[in-house]
Amino acid sequence: MRNVSDTVRRRHFAEMREMMKFYLPTKVFQEKDAVKRHSAQMAHFGKKALIVTGGSSSKKNGALQDVTDGLDLHHTAYVIFDKIKENPSVDSIMEAAEFGRKEGADFVIGVGGGSPLDAAKAIALMLQNRDSSKEVLYQKVELRYLPVVAVPTTCGTGSEVTPYAILTREDIQTKQSISHMIFPELALVDGKYIEKAPLSLLVNTAVDALGHMIESYFHSDATDYSRMLCQYAMEVWGMAADVLFGIDAKDGDYERLMFASSLAGMAIAQTGTSLPHGLSYYLTYHKGIPHGKAVGVFLAGYLSALPENYEPQVIMALRTLGFGSLEQFEGALKELLGIVELSGEETEEMIDEMMQNEKKLLAAPFEVTRKTFQEMCRMVAQK
Ligand code: NAP
Ligand code: ZN
Repeated sequence: MRNVSDTVRRRHFAEMREMMKFYLPTKVFQEKDAVKRHSAQMAHFGKKALIVTGGSSSKKNGALQDVTDGLDLHHTAYVIFDKIKENPSVDSIMEAAEFGRKEGADFVIGVGGGSPLDAAKAIALMLQNRDSSKEVLYQKVELRYLPVVAVPTTCGTGSEVTPYAILTREDIQTKQSISHMIFPELALVDGKYIEKAPLSLLVNTAVDALGHMIESYFHSDATDYSRMLCQYAMEVWGMAADVLFGIDAKDGDYERLMFASSLAGMAIAQTGTSLPHGLSYYLTYHKGIPHGKAVGVFLAGYLSALPENYEPQVIMALRTLGFGSLEQFEGALKELLGIVELSGEETEEMIDEMMQNEKKLLAAPFEVTRKTFQEMCRMVAQK
């Protein structure tokens, strides 16, 4: 392992939990032309697929064509719902489910970034439970769902290997994962889909993945299984990070960014996310800031808010990512993301919401106070 001092390693081992759980039922293939190579598996989940995707990107980057070619090859019927927007709403899920129901779809393929992938999971639930109303999305009842295949085209959410589906809830004015844990059956991951993506999208989504690694690593539910995934995700992310600063990609960098994103997804599938993600939902819902940037502006502050006894692990994580210090890390995030602006009242309102969010408060492995959040807001400028 790179950059891990013996002291840190011993400490890490000493903290190993007595009880550890690991669950990841998704079959993953990451390789060039993954969809083409595994089209038989993709096509055999049912008789008619509902393909769920966004308005245009999957048509331009070739992912949608690969999926429809694969289904055609195996004589599996399909219909396409291509109206999933960023931060999908509950209403768009209901519209897509209604369409899929009328068309008789019996499995769902999500193609695109985290938005279509998350939408595909929620739609699979509503399609299986055809007589239910949208309220069941957020009810703690056990329900079945149709099989989901995920083809990611961004390098951030890891949704292809997580059980989460984050939707925008107008009723409570925020974003929230549905109550049901829906792992895709199959994830087909191919770096070629991000090769021509705009730099801003690569940055926003790779910083989301960075958030997953950091939040999962320093999470109260972390185990050696999840930390192992985070550590390797950090190393792989660090190897490709130059691309985010506008430097020409080396051979394999796009694959590395995708791989780091999936690894980080596997880690949050075990632990969930923590305070930066909790705060980010306010910025996205109220200010329209893309998910990755909304997470990224809180990451340096989160590391600095960790109690002193975490310092060796913070240093190790930063080195694994390729940063010499917290200051350097913060500088890099500022260069990549800029800062965000909030008024004093907005900042207080955001912190108030978080102080009520018991789940996220418990995710941090230390006692969280308002001061923690104030410290985390160091990349938030007061308007
Ligand atoms: P996204 O919202 O899916 O897509 C953002 C934009 O990027 C869209 O305009 C999309 O265009 C475009 N796009 C996608 N792939 C592209 C490509 N290869 N080239 C060029 N443009 C491309 O972005 P995301 O950051 O991946 O997903 C964010 C969502 O995932 C948020 O709702 C977030 O809360 C959620 N999330 C989920 C998890 C989880 O575990 N499930 C974890 C973290 C975040 P089109 O609209 O035309 O497709
Ligand atoms: Zn995220």
